[in-house]
Amino acid sequence: MRILVTGGAGFIGSHFVRTLLAPEGPGSGPHVTVLDALTYAGDRANLRPVEGDPRFSFVHGDIRDQPLVDSLLAGHDAVVHFAAESHVDRSIAGGTDFAATNVLGTQILLESAVRHRVARFVHVSTDEVYGSIAEGSWTEDAPLAPNSPYSATKAGSDLLALAHHRTHGLDVSVTRCSNNYGPYQHPEKVIPLFVSRLLAGGRVPLYGDGLHVRDWLHVDDHCRALRLVLEGGRPGEVYNIGGGTELSNRDLTARLLAACGADADRIERVTDRKGHDRRYSVDWTKIHDELGYTPRHSFEDGLAETVAWYRDHPERCAPPADGTHAAAPAPALGGAAR
Ligand code: NAD
Repeated sequence: MRILVTGGAGFIGSHFVRTLLAPEGPGSGPHVTVLDALTYAGDRANLRPVEGDPRFSFVHGDIRDQPLVDSLLAGHDAVVHFAAESHVDRSIAGGTDFAATNVLGTQILLESAVRHRVARFVHVSTDEVYGSIAEGSWTEDAPLAPNSPYSATKAGSDLLALAHHRTHGLDVSVTRCSNNYGPYQHPEKVIPLFVSRLLAGGRVPLYGDGLHVRDWLHVDDHCRALRLVLEGGRPGEVYNIGGGTELSNRDLTARLLAACGADADRIERVTDRKGHDRRYSVDWTKIHDELGYTPRHSFEDGLAETVAWYRDHPERCAPPADGTHAAAPAPALGGAAR
């Protein structure tokens, strides 16, 4: 099987590729091609463990480059589509790149997959497409009500993927996962940002009242679920992926302070993000019952491992906010939410 992984130099895509190629040893298992534009969020170093594996190849290119996508899909059986502009705060500062990559780029991939009769397509979406939920959890049939430009463009691409199943019969499944954490995440995202600042002796910016709630799932659990969907998911179906640890940003910050040996005086309250969703929560009964998915990583162990990774990789940490005591975050970045 030949799998095209878009966005495979990013945080989750690179974990997916490293684990897909890891267990079987060179010579067996799927062949993987990564297509990645290497934006500010992509890093070829994330794929260093698989460089040199004869089953792996890397193509530096854009999912909006239709001739390139056509030439690649002609030789692949499956697509796992991660490539996206992924940071909510950046989408609030300016959403054009989000619409271009997340919506147009996905459309180009889907059309090409239909043209080349690609046998399987997994579209990696997000729980944010449902919008905020005060109590309970969204099931897959809940209406989409995204609030940020990021989540709106993800919802657009998510619906395009499902439309290509209904209209063209493309064998596509959509996944909607909660917040991921783990090593190799870009340090603009809250956990590596806070860990970077705390390890450097700085302060961390907490949005608003800090009571926004997210479900934190280890990236490895997300990638295992994606593999289950790739291999056994039904065409035209959506699968929620969750089951991490639900925490308010205040609680998350307290755990990060403890993991880094820091006190509460390192917290700096900052003005809330515009349109900040209060709580995300997905019901993941369907993927559990149909495909046998259960998360394996405890948040406590996963967080300790993540902090240790950033401690060991200072080059992957965020630069100090002002060189001394980290002050307010750069306006378009930081803040305690994905
Ligand atoms: P990321 O920002 O770390 O990685 C995105 C990758 O896509 C980068 O390598 C980047 O270079 C590449 N890319 C961007 N634009 C491209 C383009 N036009 N052509 C080709 N490559 C391009 O993102 P991530 O956190 O790894 O998220 C991956 C996917 O998972 C996204 O679709 C995101 O919406 C989804 N998701 C993320 C989370 C999370 O918590 N991070 C949760 C649920 C779903």
